[in-house]
Amino acid sequence: MKAWAKEFYESSSWRECRAAYLISQHNVCERCGDIAKVVHHKKYLTAKNINDVSITLSWDNLEALCQDCHNKEHHNKPKRYSFDSDGNIIPSEK
Ligand SMILES: [Zn+2]
Ligand SMILES: [Zn+2]
Repeated sequence: MKAWAKEFYESSSWRECRAAYLISQHNVCERCGDIAKVVHHKKYLTAKNINDVSITLSWDNLEALCQDCHNKEHHNKPKRYSFDSDGNIIPSEK
């Protein structure tokens, strides 16, 4: 987990928000109907928006997903670039 996200994911406001959202979705994955294990942020969290509760804690930005769907969501998207440990942009190899 990224250092900047750790504090957020460990916060009680996120834990409560996540738990309430899962209950609202009956713990069912919104994509395949399997058991939801993960609450995904549709707008991905970044170091810049991590303190913006309209993104981090807004139900509009949340999606209940099973592990499979969550993995697909994050790994199927071609990454256009990534960052090295100093925060510099690394162009993708493709
Ligand atoms: Zn699923
Ligand atoms: Zn996610």
